[in-house]
Amino acid sequence: MMARTPIITGNWKMNPGDMASAVQLAADVAAQTKGLEGVEVGIIPPYPFVPPVRDALKGSGITVGAQNAFVEDKGAFTGAVSTTMLLSVGCEYVLCGHSERRTIFKEDNALINSKVLKVLSKNMRPILCIGESKEEYESGLNKEVCAVQLGKNLAGVTAEQMKDVVIAYEPVWAIGTGLVATPEVAQSVHAYIRSWLAGKYGQAVADDVRIQYGGSVTPESVDDLMACPDIDGALVGGASLVADKFARICRFQ
Ligand code: PEP
Repeated sequence: MMARTPIITGNWKMNPGDMASAVQLAADVAAQTKGLEGVEVGIIPPYPFVPPVRDALKGSGITVGAQNAFVEDKGAFTGAVSTTMLLSVGCEYVLCGHSERRTIFKEDNALINSKVLKVLSKNMRPILCIGESKEEYESGLNKEVCAVQLGKNLAGVTAEQMKDVVIAYEPVWAIGTGLVATPEVAQSVHAYIRSWLAGKYGQAVADDVRIQYGGSVTPESVDDLMACPDIDGALVGGASLVADKFARICRFQ
């Protein structure tokens, strides 16, 4: 098994409100994570801020990604942005299936699967977000829900391509709520996800896939989460908008 390099990514969602604030935030994160080694740090800003944020991060080693992408390369798709465009402005990965895309924008598993395949076809990396709702969690269905989403969202993805896939386990009830999953709950779902991947792709492939936890991660919760054997990083929403909090998360112990 290759050692899995931890990956911490900040999903800015539809924040901050203007380009100057975005550039400042990126510069602050770069300054406050300077010299950090042994962890991959990424920022996922809104589309218009990708090029200026990329420039503000130059030389820092922090990568940029996109929050979404459409499945066609170009054409009459008003409001859509293609993976080709994202690649041309320096995006290395794309969030696929974030719960806000699933619920607010009604993206279904088939569309998310097409996006994962499209991103991989461009040699970019999808960060595939999966996770159960509050009701599903309370009914004890978290692993079943993850299994269904993994099966549908990874359809057609080969074992070879899995080296470029990052999975983010994001229980919907933990996103933006301050209700972080306990390390025990998160670890048990992460271990389940890895065993699911082993069943489909073999243990060696599964052992190399990085699985992030997402859902109200803060400087206070990150260390215990990252101490779990199957938690390989964090996808951070709210706390990624505050440079010193995000930098502390990247410096987990
Ligand atoms: C997210 O949007 O992916 C997320 C985990 O948000 P938050 O950290 O704010 O819960």
